[in-house]
Amino acid sequence: MALEATHVRFALDLLPCLHVSDIESYCAGAVYPDTRIATGLPREMTHGPRCPHDPSAEGFSDFQKGWAAHLLYDEIAGDELRKLLSEEFDRTIRERKSFIEFTSMKAVEDIQSVNLVPNVLDHLQRLAIDRAPLGESLERIYYHFSVTRKLYENIPSHESYRQWYLDVGVAQEVADGLFQRTQQMVKDQELDSAIRAIYGQTLEKVKKSLAI
Ligand SMILES: [Zn+2]
Repeated sequence: MALEATHVRFALDLLPCLHVSDIESYCAGAVYPDTRIATGLPREMTHGPRCPHDPSAEGFSDFQKGWAAHLLYDEIAGDELRKLLSEEFDRTIRERKSFIEFTSMKAVEDIQSVNLVPNVLDHLQRLAIDRAPLGESLERIYYHFSVTRKLYENIPSHESYRQWYLDVGVAQEVADGLFQRTQQMVKDQELDSAIRAIYGQTLEKVKKSLAI
């Protein structure tokens, strides 16, 4: 579970462990699973067991390797991020409140990513794809890529994230909630370092599992 700069950062960090020749296609693969928001595909189709999960697997294209890197990060880091949800935000709480809490943490992580590794922005500016991997609307994938390129034209502000949420179809009220909660969270040093630690731990874990 992460926003797109973090996914690209993670994919780039795995590069030394993989044989990738087309980095642009690889980075497009690392963002692709989240285009489901724009295309309306069920999450299962872009994140489920039939999707690529091992970026080092034989026979995968660079795009599929990026896709697998995305899913690995979602799985491992997502579990850790969920642990940081304070107890009051357990499964019994209303969906929307917990969505805001969780997504705001992903935004905090994404802000760390763009500030620590600003060259992810260059890769995000080159997002491109020439066919729809699951037969969904290529136009809607383009749409997701284009609003994402817009988000990362420069180091994004909180306002840019709010606009991106709206662009991908989040309701105004929820986008405002995310905007406010993220602003509170970035001031919480304890949370900031807890989230920072997750990225490094996840990277180590995955690198070990790739046996490099
Ligand atoms: Zn995802």
